[in-house]
Amino acid sequence: ETETRLSPADDARAVLARLGVDPARLSGGDRIARSPLDGAEIARLTDTTPAEAEAAIAGAAEAFKAWRLVPAPERGRLVALLGEELRAAKEDLGRLVTLEAGKVPAEGLGEVQEMIDICDFAVGLSRQLHGLTIATERPDHRMMETWHPIGPVGVITAFNFPVAVWSWNAALAFVCGDPVIWKPSEKTLLTALAVTALFEKAARRHGKVPAGLASLLIGGREIGEKLVDDRRVPVISATGSTAMGRKVGPRVAERFGRAILELGGNNAAILQPSADLELALRGIAFAAMGTAGQRCTTLRRLFLHGSIYDGFVTRLKAAYASVKVGDPREAGVLVGPLIDADAARAMDAALEAARAAGGTVHGGEVVEVMGQGQYRRPALVEMPAQADIVRHETFAPILYVLRHDDLAEAIAAQNDVPQGLASSIFTNDLRDAERFLSAAGSDCGIANVNIGPSGAEIGGAFGGEKETGGGREAGSDAWKAYMRRATNTINYGSTLPLAQGVTFDI
Ligand code: NAD
Repeated sequence: ETETRLSPADDARAVLARLGVDPARLSGGDRIARSPLDGAEIARLTDTTPAEAEAAIAGAAEAFKAWRLVPAPERGRLVALLGEELRAAKEDLGRLVTLEAGKVPAEGLGEVQEMIDICDFAVGLSRQLHGLTIATERPDHRMMETWHPIGPVGVITAFNFPVAVWSWNAALAFVCGDPVIWKPSEKTLLTALAVTALFEKAARRHGKVPAGLASLLIGGREIGEKLVDDRRVPVISATGSTAMGRKVGPRVAERFGRAILELGGNNAAILQPSADLELALRGIAFAAMGTAGQRCTTLRRLFLHGSIYDGFVTRLKAAYASVKVGDPREAGVLVGPLIDADAARAMDAALEAARAAGGTVHGGEVVEVMGQGQYRRPALVEMPAQADIVRHETFAPILYVLRHDDLAEAIAAQNDVPQGLASSIFTNDLRDAERFLSAAGSDCGIANVNIGPSGAEIGGAFGGEKETGGGREAGSDAWKAYMRRATNTINYGSTLPLAQGVTFDI
C-alpha cells in the first residue's frame, strides 16, 4: 500500500536500482522515458549512435563465429540461467512493466512468466533441433537434413509486450546458435535496460558467452532501419504496426533477408446461441478490456447472434460499467492507462468515426486519475455494419458489436478484414465449432473455441496471416526460422548413380 503512494517515477527508479540497471544509463541523454501512469519523466537515456550500432552488428557477427560452435545443449544452459535470473527478478520486472507500459500487476507478472516459460521451452529445444533422415532413390546413399545456426537476429519490438517479445525471439535464437540485436520500442526502454542487465548476469554465470552475443540499440526508427538494411543480420523479427511491417518487409526482402513479421490484428469472436453465456461473458470481457485494449490479440469485433443479441448486450454493458479504471497499482483496478496522448486521440477519433457510421457508443469517457495519464473507460460500440473504422485496428479498448443470423455470414464477415491474427467462437454445438476451425472457417493464425482470442501460451506457434505479416514465433516449430537448413546426400557405395536415372558416361 505504501508503494502505491510513491510517484510512478520514484517507484520505477527504485525498481531499476534493484534490477541492477547502471544509474549512469538513466540520466544525461535526450531521450525521455515516461510512465504512462501519470506521463511524468522517469529517466533520460542516451541514444545509440550510428557508430555504436555498427559496432554492435560487427560484434554480433564476430560472436556468431564462436557461438555457432558451442554445442546446442551448452547454449541451452545460458537460457536456463536466464530463466533463473527472470524467476528471481519476477516481482521487480513485472512491476517495471506496470510502471512503464501501464499493465495491471497480474498482467505485468504474467508477461515475465511468459519469458520464463519460453526459456524452459528453449532449454528443452536445445536438445531437440532435429533434422530428418529421408529415403533416397539411389542405392548405398543416405539423405538427411541438418539445421545450422544462421547468424545474428535483429529483434524490433512494440511497446505493448515490452519484455516477452524479446524473449520469444532471443531464447530460441540463443539455443539455435544466433546472436541477438534488440531494438525495443522507444516507449519502453527501461524494461529493455532491465532485461539486458538480467541477461548480462546470466552470461557472467555461464562463463563462456562471447562478447556481442546480445546487444541493445536505443533509438527511433532510424536505428531500427540500420538493422533492417544490414546483410550481416540474416533474420529480422519485427513486431509492431502493419504500417511498420509494410516498410520493413520489402527492405529485408530487397537484400534477400528473412523477415518474421508480427503485425496488427483485428480480432473477432463469434457468439452462437448454444454458448455458455456466463463463460462467454468472462472470456469476452478479458479479451476486450484487458491490457486496456492494447494487445495485438485484443478482441475488437464481436459477432453476436440475433436471437441472443439484446440480452447479451445488456449483460456486456453491465460488465463494462462495473470495471474499475485507474492507477494499475491499486487493488481492484482492471484497466490502466493508454500508452500516451496519441493513443488517446486515436481512440477518441475512432469513436467519433463509429458514431458517424451509425454506431451507438457506450463508455469511452475520459477518466482523470493522475497527472497527464491518459485513462479512458473501455467502449462498447453497437454497429449496424462492418464500416471502415471497424476494419481498421485502433489500439485502444473499443469493442464493436455486430449482429448476425447465421454462422456462415458471421465467418465471412470475420474474415472480411485485412488482418488475420486471432479469432474465436463461443458455442457448445460441435458442428459450429468444427466449421469455424475448418479450411472454410476462420482465416486467422489463431482460432479458438470457448476462450477469447487473446492470451496465447508459448507452446504453440504465435502469429497471423494477411496484413498481420505471416510470421510465427514461440512454440511448435517456430525455431526453424532462426536456423538454416542443409540437405545432405551421402554416397557410401563405390559407384555414382545419378538421380532421375540420368546417365553421364565419360
Ligand atoms: P510501432 O509499429 O509504432 O513500433 C514498433 C517498433 O517498430 C518500434 O520499436 C519502432 O521503433 C519500430 N519501427 C517503426 N518503424 C520502423 C521502421 N521503418 N524501421 C525499423 N523499425 C521501425 O508499434 P507500437 O505502437 O509500438 O505497437 C503496437 C502495434 O504492434 C499494434 O499494431 C499491435 O497490434 C502490434 N503488435 C503485434 C504483435 C504480434 O505479435 N502480431 C504483438 C504486439 C504488438
